[in-house]
Amino acid sequence: MVQSHFNEGELVGVLTTQPLGRVLDYKAPQGGCFAGAFVEVPLGPRKILGVVWGPGAGDYDYAKVRSVMRVLDVAPMRSEMQTFLTRAADYTLTPLDQMLRLATRAPGMGDAPGTRKVYRLGTSEPSRMTDARRAVLDVLREYGGLAFTLKELAEMAGVGTTVVKGMVKLGAVSEEDAPRDTPYPKLDPDYGGKELTADQAAGAAVLAEAVASGAYGTTLLKGVTGSGKTEVYLEAVAACLRAGRQALVLLPEIALTGEFLDRIEARFGQRPAEWHSGVTQTERRRCWRMVGQGDADVVVGARSALFLPYRDLGLIVVDEEHDTSYKQEDGVLYNARDMAVLRAAGNGAQVVLASATPSLESWANVEAGKYRRLELKSRFGPAVMPKMSAIDMRSEDLPSGHWVSPSLRAAMQLRIERGEQSLVFLNRRGYAPVTLCRACGHQIACDDCDARMVEHRFLKRLMCHQCGATKPMPTVCPHCAVEDKLSAVGPGVERMGEEVQALFPDARVVVLSSDLYGSARAMKAHIADIAAGGADIVIGTQLVAKGHNFPKLTLVGVIDADLGLQGSDLRAAERTFQLMRQVAGRAGRAEAPGEALLQTYQPEHAVIRAIVAGDEEAFWSAEAAERKAAGVPPYGRMAGIVLSGGDVQQVFELGTAMARQDGALRRIGAQVFGPAPAPIARIRGRHRVRLLVKADKAAPLQQALAEWAAQFKLRGDLRMAIDIDPQSF
Ligand code: ADP
Ligand code: ZN
Repeated sequence: MVQSHFNEGELVGVLTTQPLGRVLDYKAPQGGCFAGAFVEVPLGPRKILGVVWGPGAGDYDYAKVRSVMRVLDVAPMRSEMQTFLTRAADYTLTPLDQMLRLATRAPGMGDAPGTRKVYRLGTSEPSRMTDARRAVLDVLREYGGLAFTLKELAEMAGVGTTVVKGMVKLGAVSEEDAPRDTPYPKLDPDYGGKELTADQAAGAAVLAEAVASGAYGTTLLKGVTGSGKTEVYLEAVAACLRAGRQALVLLPEIALTGEFLDRIEARFGQRPAEWHSGVTQTERRRCWRMVGQGDADVVVGARSALFLPYRDLGLIVVDEEHDTSYKQEDGVLYNARDMAVLRAAGNGAQVVLASATPSLESWANVEAGKYRRLELKSRFGPAVMPKMSAIDMRSEDLPSGHWVSPSLRAAMQLRIERGEQSLVFLNRRGYAPVTLCRACGHQIACDDCDARMVEHRFLKRLMCHQCGATKPMPTVCPHCAVEDKLSAVGPGVERMGEEVQALFPDARVVVLSSDLYGSARAMKAHIADIAAGGADIVIGTQLVAKGHNFPKLTLVGVIDADLGLQGSDLRAAERTFQLMRQVAGRAGRAEAPGEALLQTYQPEHAVIRAIVAGDEEAFWSAEAAERKAAGVPPYGRMAGIVLSGGDVQQVFELGTAMARQDGALRRIGAQVFGPAPAPIARIRGRHRVRLLVKADKAAPLQQALAEWAAQFKLRGDLRMAIDIDPQSF
């Protein structure tokens, strides 16, 4: 598509990343500019980043309109990207300028080469070592050889930039011109393909043909863990490379990217570009620019990689599409799975949603004929799905303060004798979820959130899992001041580690939890070590449920299968079903058959029975029927409106007023529920109240919500966040 060009002095409308609520007029600079150009414009005394969005409106006195200061040396934003951002803003009810922020999150993306400096480990030790200096050296050593920007290095070390500058003078840190961004190597679609099974080959052919068509389409690729979904969608990536277009693979967890990059390299001969929070700023800038130039064929990344400026995006894979971490819960509230479909639809691109346990949303879209469905029925090679059974905890003989039942213990003993691995799964970080004073009954809670502080014995601190605040583990009850009466109640993974080690003193027990590692790199090394057989028993949280390959693992023991079923959330059954199936899928990936044991106090619960029976179709149709009857997603539409503020009374008053003045919603047949305390009623000192809005599938919900919300002025510190398709309801 040809982008229109504006001559010097012509009025252009510039969308900035500032919350101005509209596009501003400027004069095109000397030499003119193209629509989509990234520019710097003056705003008051400041210089801000923007994009030439189209012709100017001409509402102002021409003489007073200021000029664009500089056109950045990057590829202009393509018109399909502008369309995508506009649609995404409309869908999520987010101001367009905030949407643009997501698309410009590459530090220094527009700086000319040579104007930037980067910092590496220098040649000499500083003669006087301080804590701050040591912190800088630690960062540089940990990431051996990598170069950082000044701000990045200072932030990572937790010191001021002057500390780094001082170390440059001493020679302890070296400062050099940033290298020119180099293109990523070309990936070769014919490098290392595997011979596919008949099932896999059939699926791969369908996807390859879809990609080659150059048209939009979405496919749900369903198959049990280990059935070869990855092998199949990599063939879609190959087809995309052959068509000369770019492919994006989204992963739910950055801890998995290392293993995945190796796999891409084995298949295509080169490593792809990588985009997530664990990538250095220098590398992020390179990725952003090269993607825009078409010099990065494949990007592997987190959800925000959807907002990179692809030159020609032909395929988006969303791996583990049901994963809740695709929902961004901060700032712009969006679900990457839905945004991927939106992005692809405007781009003539294909979407592949891969999962062993698809979301009910995707399931319903297949039913409605919107998505194609491909299924891989069996595991690859001799591996079969593990045998699943429930352990009825009511009839197990277990002293209090212990969680491994005799039945599970016996199964683990057997694995040790056979030289196989066991996984003990508990979806709870830390040592114990509750710290209770045995003298007064007080439970230690976060000062700023409606949440208990969780003991992290490894860090020797209490931590709030809502806001991340930590404090040293007290010895005296903060409530009654009695000494030495605080005790840990309930298990977390760290505590399970202790119990298991005590049960099997000679076994190599490893706790795998994100809290125990200083960096993604350290964790990756550890995971590789475990996969190679460096542990007998692995104890882990959700982190291990996702995609790691442990070939020697033949037993999965779930400590508390009932954990996710508590509470009133309508999605609880779906989540528990998905998580349990996924965890169980970790067992028996190679020759040795696997077994999964679920400890439960309610073996007759419909969800637990469905998990054990493995009857997915039955589970999903029961679940679908229930949601249909309730008129909730995916069979109806919902939005959550979270109001927050420092004064709980004010927040509730606003909520009540909104619930009362609901004319705009009633006109489309929508209903309002609430106000009620939000699922987490206080975070970082702010009280949170939620309203839920429910509408028919076909109702113009966003429009009505916008009209409704606009009636209310947000005074003082009151804030409103609208969450379309909330995760819990
Ligand atoms: P999924 O993504 O469904 O969990 P994978 O694609 O990761 O499954 O496959 C599971 C394992 O089986 C991987 O180690 C993969 O390399 C291997 N595998 C799958 N299909 C084949 C094949 N056709 N030839 C060789 N190895 C395969
Ligand atoms: Zn907190």
